[in-house]
Parts: sequence; C-alpha cells; structure tokens
Amino acid sequence: MTRAHIFNPGPAAMPLPVLKEVQQEFLDYKGTGMSIVEISHRSPEYQEMQTETEQDIKDLLKIPDGYHVLFMQGGGSMQFILHAQNFLIHRGAYINTGSWATKAEAAASFYGETYELASSKDDNFSYIPEIPASGTWVLKPDTDYVHITVNNTIHGTEWWQFPHFDVPLFADMSSDFLSRPVDVSNFDLIYAGIQKNVGPAGCVVVIIKDELLRRARTDIAPYLQYKTFVEKDSTYNTPPVFNIYFLGKVAKWLKNLGGLDAMYEINKEKAGLIYSVIDESDGFYKGHARPGSRSLMNITFNMATPELEADFAAEAAKQNLIGVKGHRSVGGCRVSTYNAVTMDDCKVLAKFMRDYQHAHASRS
Ligand SMILES: *Cc1c(COP(=O)(O)O)cnc(C)c1O
Repeated sequence: MTRAHIFNPGPAAMPLPVLKEVQQEFLDYKGTGMSIVEISHRSPEYQEMQTETEQDIKDLLKIPDGYHVLFMQGGGSMQFILHAQNFLIHRGAYINTGSWATKAEAAASFYGETYELASSKDDNFSYIPEIPASGTWVLKPDTDYVHITVNNTIHGTEWWQFPHFDVPLFADMSSDFLSRPVDVSNFDLIYAGIQKNVGPAGCVVVIIKDELLRRARTDIAPYLQYKTFVEKDSTYNTPPVFNIYFLGKVAKWLKNLGGLDAMYEINKEKAGLIYSVIDESDGFYKGHARPGSRSLMNITFNMATPELEADFAAEAAKQNLIGVKGHRSVGGCRVSTYNAVTMDDCKVLAKFMRDYQHAHASRS
C-alpha cells in the first residue's frame, strides 16, 4: 500500500501511528472482547477513556481551573447556532475574517441583533484586521460577546495576537485546534470541530468558562444548552463515542511528541517550507494571505490562470499529492498542513512545486 501525501482541508490527514493503533485495537478494546463502538457509553471502560481524553486536552492546552471541556455533535456549524442561542441577549459583535466567520454571524442573527466589529472583506479576506492602537475595538453598548474565527480555513489567514475586551470573547478554533499553544484564559468560549486537525468528522470540542455559563439562557431545550453538557459530563445523550476515542489517541500522540510547543515548532517548519517556495517563485505562485496574517494550517495561493491551477492540481495528484485545489468558493490553490501532515510530505510537495515552476515558468 502507498499512502498518499494528504493535504486535504477537512476531513484531513490523521497521524499514521494513531490510525494503526486504532486499527490494531478495533476488534478488542482493552481486553473487553468488544470494539470501542460496541460498548456502552455508561461503561467504566468508556467513561475512563472519555475522562482521560478530557484531561489530556486540559494538559495540552494548560487549561486553567474554571473551565469545562465538552464533547458535542453537529459540527462547527451547530456551534454557530448554539453560541448565540445560549448567550445572545442584546447584541453580538463579530469580526469577519472569511467564509466561516460570515456564516457564524449569519446563523447567530436568527437569535438576536448582531453587528460586524471589523472585517477584512475589502481585500478578499487576505488579512486579519489589525488591533486598534488603543488596544481594542470600541463595542456598541450592551454587547454580550465578541466572536472571532482564529484560523480561516478557506482564505488561509490566522490570528497571531488576540484582542482583549470587557465582554466575553468567543473563538472558533476548528481548523487550528491543538496546532500551537494558546492562552485559554483569553477566551470564554472556544469551539473546534475536530475533523480539521485532530480527529474524524462528527465531534466538536467546546471549552467553556464556568463564569460565562452563569449567563446562559435556561429557557431553551436541554440538549441545546451548554449547561446540560457540563452537568451531564457530555453524556446527556449518547456521545460520538468513536470520535472521542480517536481524539484521545491523537491527544496522546501530541503528548508523546512533546506537547503543543513541539507541535508548533514542527508546524512552523512545515508551513515555512511551502511559503518559501511561494516567496522565491518570482510571482509564479502568488500567496493570497498577507505575510503577517499567514496561516500555518492552510496555505493559499494563486497561479497565472485557473487553467494552470487545474493542471497543477492534476499533476500533483499524479505524484500522490492530494488536496491542493482551493475551496470551490474562492478558487486558486490551497494546501493544508495540519498536525498530521509530515515534514516529509511537505518536502515532497515543495520539490514538486519547484519542479512544476521550472517546467512551466518559461512558457507563461
Ligand atoms: C470547517 C469549519 C467549520 C464548519 O465545520 P462543520 O463541522 O463542517 O460544520 C467552521 N469553522 C471553521 C473555521 C472551519 O474550518
């Protein structure tokens, strides 16, 4: 079997050692004679696994006391709804840095007033709005929270400095969750669909501050309340058992690697390799994101024509380099260098990009 070099945007590459471990214990979880997907979520074996996964996430992110880690379903898209349904009383402020940020505000607007605090739409979301010199943006009165999208999967930008507000800060970290250390105490609510960086599609990790929880609405159905998931330890109903189990394996893999500091160093090196090919290409590859806003997870670029981009993707696929096409909404090219994408994968891609340029630059 030849494994592909997977640069897919999500679902995306998973660590090979984790895939192997999952495969190896799939028929018999810890001597139970049953698969993890065949045992009760109320069983001690399951409960122990979920608690350990939760603890590993707390350890990796050094989450301070006063926060809960939850496992929920419905994807990032469901969180676009739930954060507003639970916490939008007067008005919610949104920083619009791309497609997912736009969707978050659009979904929230069903539950109350929302407004755009800042946006990078004027330059096709190629940057993260600069924090004003005063230190932060001025909010409208009675703003309940500010929502940001930390890594913009489609446009390839990422926040490298976080603003502070007098109101709670909510963050969609779906596409860079556990890719680098983050000071969780900056945030009141963090959510991350796991299928970009840390697991299979079907589970969202939510990190919520207890203080925030006290403001949550309680006049909505229990399943829609974060409170329920806190009180019932994410097992109010059947949780996405396999996803949490898989995520647990990824968390252990990260710990063995040396934690998020080590992962961050590797991610910088990997993305740096691809960005340097772009920067040294004399404009053959045109990076979309401004240098100060570049994402380490999703690298976006354009070439001279859509035809050349299509040819590039087709030629890459022949070399087993998968997933280099841009999102259907923006075109161009995008390579995703999530945690599980290896340095070797990136070296193969960088060489391919250089070779492709040499073969085509003279003709264009
Ligand atoms: C993929 C993605 C989403 C949507 O996730 P779903 O699980 O498909 O609903 C939301 N936000 C960001 C930043 C994403 O990358």
